[in-house]
Amino acid sequence: MNLGLEMDCDELVELVTEYLDGALDPATHRRFTEHLALCAGCAEYVEQMRETVRLAGTLGEDDLRPDLRDKLLAAFRGWRTGTTPSP
Ligand SMILES: [Zn+2]
Repeated sequence: MNLGLEMDCDELVELVTEYLDGALDPATHRRFTEHLALCAGCAEYVEQMRETVRLAGTLGEDDLRPDLRDKLLAAFRGWRTGTTPSP
């Protein structure tokens, strides 16, 4: 156990499913939320995971809406087109 030590990003990522399940012990939960308060990247990651779990709880994987998937893919392409134009 690393009680009292600051949590790092890798540990947070490993614990995120337990966090969302409410399965963390109180001390670990506190370190988790302390890291979230300080780390915008992890906070965003947890929000995405929370949304994913929420959707997975109500939909099967096969039910992912094609329009939503296309929208996500378009967003990812949008990041890239600025730096790596396609031939
Ligand atoms: Zn982090």
